[in-house]
Amino acid sequence: MKVLQCPACGHRVNIKQAAATKKVNGIFMLQCANCQQWSHENQKAAALKNLGLFMLLVGSVMGYFQLGGIVTGPMLAFIGGLIAVATQHAIPRTLHTP
Ligand SMILES: [Zn+2]
Repeated sequence: MKVLQCPACGHRVNIKQAAATKKVNGIFMLQCANCQQWSHENQKAAALKNLGLFMLLVGSVMGYFQLGGIVTGPMLAFIGGLIAVATQHAIPRTLHTP
């Protein structure tokens, strides 16, 4: 289950328990049920996460076909997955100020 942390009050927001959600210019916004603050994913974190997921995908395909030996593909997939998970947790969400 996906739980996101509110950057304003630190309240953990479960997507299903969020006060409200909306999409602005294709960006997914979430309102904190505790402090009513809107927040969205950090743009840099989102880009890094996508890069990590891309590496994960490429690495998996390389590993499957054993391109570049038996180590390169799984290694790339592992690092990609690590980047995707790390950015999700390490970079705080951005407050949305209307
Ligand atoms: Zn909050």
